[in-house]
Amino acid sequence: MTFELVFPARKPLAQIPTPLQPLQLTDTPQDKRLWIKRDDLTGAALSGNKIRKLEYVLAQALAEGADTLVTCGGLQSNHCRATALTAAAHGLGCELILRGDKPDNLDGNLLLSAMAGAAYHCYRAPDYHRNLPLLLRQTAERLKTQGKKPFIIPTGASDEIGLWGYIQAAQELAQDFMALGIQQPLVVCAAGSGGTLAGLAAGLGHFCPEAEVLGIAVCDSQAYFEQRVREDIAKAQHVYPQSGLRMPSNYCVNAEFIGPGYAKGYPALYKTIQQLAREVGVILDPVYTGKAFYGIAELMRRGAIAQRDIVFIHTGGIFGVFPEREALQL
Ligand SMILES: *Cc1c(COP(=O)(O)O)cnc(C)c1O
Repeated sequence: MTFELVFPARKPLAQIPTPLQPLQLTDTPQDKRLWIKRDDLTGAALSGNKIRKLEYVLAQALAEGADTLVTCGGLQSNHCRATALTAAAHGLGCELILRGDKPDNLDGNLLLSAMAGAAYHCYRAPDYHRNLPLLLRQTAERLKTQGKKPFIIPTGASDEIGLWGYIQAAQELAQDFMALGIQQPLVVCAAGSGGTLAGLAAGLGHFCPEAEVLGIAVCDSQAYFEQRVREDIAKAQHVYPQSGLRMPSNYCVNAEFIGPGYAKGYPALYKTIQQLAREVGVILDPVYTGKAFYGIAELMRRGAIAQRDIVFIHTGGIFGVFPEREALQL
């Protein structure tokens, strides 16, 4: 049973639908069917989960007459890189507020953002955390005095607008499940700013109520993400009262696989990334998808997963491997 949902305006950016493929690893338990949704293939440089969210964010920015996108994240933010390339592709300016010391050499995502012409400003982590709302506001004010029309996108484009990217992805998944005979699946994604998890939970609640969603946290806590998902969906219900969006209860969060902290690795993580590269030619990233995949593989090994069909959402992040070259060496 599905219910009509009314989506907000969307500006196509992503190469979708992405493939949903079976994933055969040497140590996949015999009683499970493992699948991978290739959202790392939503584009080349403009790739990963942020592209789906940016389709709705860009439509809103253009509707408001914006000419400059302003956003924020870590030095190696996939979201900032995606925003910079999106801005370039649409003749918009882009300014990035970044967390971390300015590096001597540009690498990975930051190299691509700089190549796309984004202006970027680096702040040490404590200053960034203390002042982020102020820094965003000041950047927007400065752009306005220069005669520009800035549009601020929050961290990871995880808000009531970006959410729709993964509600739409859930609709796509429901069709995949039907085509491939996938039943009562567990859908697994990394949770960083929470928008992917929130969108999948809300979307599958509508389009595939038998599915459950597991967010594997790469930062913060289980309680943080549970509250975050509720808040973002409540905000979307408020901002889009005619959408028909309902509050889901089909999701849970696991925060056991963060390791030493956000973007900080551990040996089992690097081993998992190596395993997928060698056995199936799929590149996971060390910040998000590597930890999420290690997490679900470990939960399966522990016998903690009841479902037979497990669908891992590959949210992208390939450029994050390059700055980690030392840890990833054999
Ligand atoms: C941002 C990101 C995530 C996390 O998505 P959120 O919606 O921020 O929780 C997962 N994987 C990759 C590669 C990302 O860049």
